[in-house]
Amino acid sequence: MLNLYNTLTRKKEEFVSINPGKVSMYVCGPTVYDHCHLGHGRGYVAMDILRRYLEYSGYEVRYIMNYTDVGHLVNDAEVGEDKIERKAKAEKVDPIEITNTYIRSAEDDFTALNIKPATFNPRPTQYIAQIIKFIQDLIEKGYAYEVNGSVYFSVEKFPEYGKLSGRKIEDMLVGARVEINEEKKSPLDFALWIKATSEHILKWESHWSLGYPGWHIECSVMSCDLLGQDTFDIHGGGNENIFPHNENEVAQSEAYLGKKMANFWTLWNMVLTDGEKMSKSKGNQTNLKDALKKYGPAAIRLWIASSHYRSVMNYSEESLAQAKANLQKINDFVLNMEALATSENSDSSFDIKPYQEKFETAMDNDINTPVALSVLYELITDTNKLIVESALSAQDAKKILAFWKRINSVFGLVLHGQVEIPQEITDLVKERELARKNKDFAKSDQLRDAIDKLGYIVEDTKDNNFIIKPARNASPKK
Ligand SMILES: [Zn+2]
Repeated sequence: MLNLYNTLTRKKEEFVSINPGKVSMYVCGPTVYDHCHLGHGRGYVAMDILRRYLEYSGYEVRYIMNYTDVGHLVNDAEVGEDKIERKAKAEKVDPIEITNTYIRSAEDDFTALNIKPATFNPRPTQYIAQIIKFIQDLIEKGYAYEVNGSVYFSVEKFPEYGKLSGRKIEDMLVGARVEINEEKKSPLDFALWIKATSEHILKWESHWSLGYPGWHIECSVMSCDLLGQDTFDIHGGGNENIFPHNENEVAQSEAYLGKKMANFWTLWNMVLTDGEKMSKSKGNQTNLKDALKKYGPAAIRLWIASSHYRSVMNYSEESLAQAKANLQKINDFVLNMEALATSENSDSSFDIKPYQEKFETAMDNDINTPVALSVLYELITDTNKLIVESALSAQDAKKILAFWKRINSVFGLVLHGQVEIPQEITDLVKERELARKNKDFAKSDQLRDAIDKLGYIVEDTKDNNFIIKPARNASPKK
């Protein structure tokens, strides 16, 4: 039985999904105005491992991760410049070009890291009508008010405000800085819709003004739309956004729905560089692409899994060298097992069950990946001893390989250059290649569509070859 730490209750709780066999999950995605840094890689791999373990446990997971393409202002502020617009002005291009460029960049990184594609990746610019409707509803319900074309959420109307981050309204009021924005009734109120200044590029007509949505409202609207106007199972994100972003999401969604937004809040921790907090101003923020180039995606993924998702990670040469050495060990182990497994059938006396039980106990304990990996290393040590003693049969090796494949469906490590593509897809690709050879282009196109529908794309390369990739940004499967 999976026990998951729930930030909302501050304790580990048994995970029971709302609908049997199905999990609905929303994860706050990156604001796409720059390349992803290592902290993003850590977070989205951690959420991918959680999702994969839910699938390993038999659940069907509907996984939503947004790309924020409007409304996230510089310094996470309530007024000022949009992060994307600032970049667009600096590079003298349209903001859409910025968001398209960095969504593609993020998707390349996520594909390299073998992160499974989301069921859907919504963007707030595609949700403006729904956002306006949602805000209108909050005004009608008395939770929000309009002043001079901007709309604010009235925190005092939602007495549970602060329950996620553990802050008390009284303390927040004492701590609130002298409010510059005099439109707000209370300094804790936050913007749902912001009236645009004339130099603002991204703006839309609404009942209140030509303006744009606040940063927090998008996650409430898109999770509601794509997960069914109801409480959903798991909300994931980085714990640095617990306040105000996640706290405000809770207030908006629960005011709108009249019930809980999400049962579980699962938040990952940050990555330090040589013991220091990464920040743009310090110049010690590691670009994910640089790290991937330097160490390879599988080593990065293994390094991430080597820490519990709620612990602070430290990026250092030594920790990555350790991950590389461990990856080599796993590679060798799999190659050894594959070589052994080719012999004739034989008896098997190897008992894999204790390893499986230990793996599942570790993962059931709040996705404890470092302990789950230690079970794999124990298995490697034990099998190596048996190989030396010539006491491991082909049948044993087959059993061990089957177990490895099952646990690696959770770790998601792509070893010696293999890409994890389902058999169904490779069969279709082979059929398509045959059709192409026979110059049956109608059939070849048909097969390509079928592959598309299953969430994969075939890209033809210049040397008459092709590559198969999981497709990103798939259409919503409602
Ligand atoms: Zn969010």
